Amino acid sequence: MPVEKRMPISVTEAVERVVSSTEELTKTEVDIYDSYGHILSEDIVATYDIPRFDKSPYDGYAIRSKDSLEASGDNRVAFKVIDHIGAGSVSSKSLGESEAIRIMTGAKIPDGVDAVVMLEQTVETETGFTLRKAFDENENISRKGEETQTGDIVLKKGQFINAGAIGVLATYGYRSVPVYKRPSIAIIATGSELLDIDDELEDGKIRNSNGPMIHALAHKLNIEAKVYKIQEDHFEACLEVVKEAHASHDIVITTGGVSVGDFDYLPKIYKAMDADVLFNKVQMRPGSVTTVAKAGNKLLFGLSGNPSACYTGFELFVKPGIYRMMGANEVYPQVVEATLMEDFKKANPFTRFVRAHVTLTKHEATVKPSGFNKSGAVVAIAHSNCMMVLPGGTRGYHQGNKVHVILTDSTSYEEAFRL
Ligand code: AMP
Ligand code: MG
Repeated sequence: MPVEKRMPISVTEAVERVVSSTEELTKTEVDIYDSYGHILSEDIVATYDIPRFDKSPYDGYAIRSKDSLEASGDNRVAFKVIDHIGAGSVSSKSLGESEAIRIMTGAKIPDGVDAVVMLEQTVETETGFTLRKAFDENENISRKGEETQTGDIVLKKGQFINAGAIGVLATYGYRSVPVYKRPSIAIIATGSELLDIDDELEDGKIRNSNGPMIHALAHKLNIEAKVYKIQEDHFEACLEVVKEAHASHDIVITTGGVSVGDFDYLPKIYKAMDADVLFNKVQMRPGSVTTVAKAGNKLLFGLSGNPSACYTGFELFVKPGIYRMMGANEVYPQVVEATLMEDFKKANPFTRFVRAHVTLTKHEATVKPSGFNKSGAVVAIAHSNCMMVLPGGTRGYHQGNKVHVILTDSTSYEEAFRL
């Protein structure tokens, strides 16, 4: 059989085809404690101001500022304390001349009060305290609505629910949070050479590292993926399993078998399923044979079996697809410019993605390949927190050159505060 001719498209075009070929899943609700990592499916509108009432930002004394006007270093002014309130309590007293209410952080400002004196600014007396400084109107008062006002959109539909968003949702009483469903994912590693993690090694065989790795990549996106039994390069059996996975999941990710080898059956499987192939050749290294197809309204990601290519394919194509299905506004990875810290001499006929380690400090971003970097490499993935992007048609990158870097993980060895 002649080798099928494939039309390579650019990475950008490929990502766009994935993103525009899918849409958000239906809406649902989850308990706030389970909502982290979901995407909000509705705008959240402030139903009251924050703060809800004028309140004290400090432990101290609530006063009328005009009673402090004469205070100075040589002239300490005395106040009499007539009430004492903690957070959650309100005072019913109203202040007369040179009177004060002892007030704690978070407590509602009593009527007639227009300043709070911090405890540290006072000297205690028998009946109250003295102070040595005049206070301005509104000094040390957290004003009602100074952060957010009733009717403001405080969280946007399509926003990733992070810890801060959960704080906001709790503030407005959302026990149950409106979110989009997350796609369910099937992972199928294909290849007759593959053994499972606990299998004894045999001549000519390797262990399936892609399955667990993709499971982890999905887990990072808070998605539970089902890992199917490893499939041998056998057309009928493989087709059955892919069909079953397609019927029961929103996304099917296979690894291996998308190339033009004698036992690469994925192209034939897509055909048998009447799937629309969005692309089967991308101008990239590694993973140029990465294929994405659509059957019904579901995406089938055919990632290369080579671990580095497989990882790259997930980061570049699967992740934006998942975020799109989750209803996220932000679906693309973050990219920064970094200074290359060692030579990288390979030519880049297609855009090359290199597993790498970036260090971001306050002053600069530096990057190095994270180890042996052929497409079959697995260890370098483990030491990477980014991928360098070396555009197609370039060659010979040198230490000191600026390169673009796609962030995949964002922790650092460097302690930012110390720099
Ligand atoms: P393929 O994409 O099937 O042509 O496989 C490309 C290379 O990746 C071959 O060397 C395979 O042995 C290897 N490979 C395929 N699947 C896996 C897997 N699940 N885990 C680790 N390596 C794999
Ligand atoms: Mg294979």
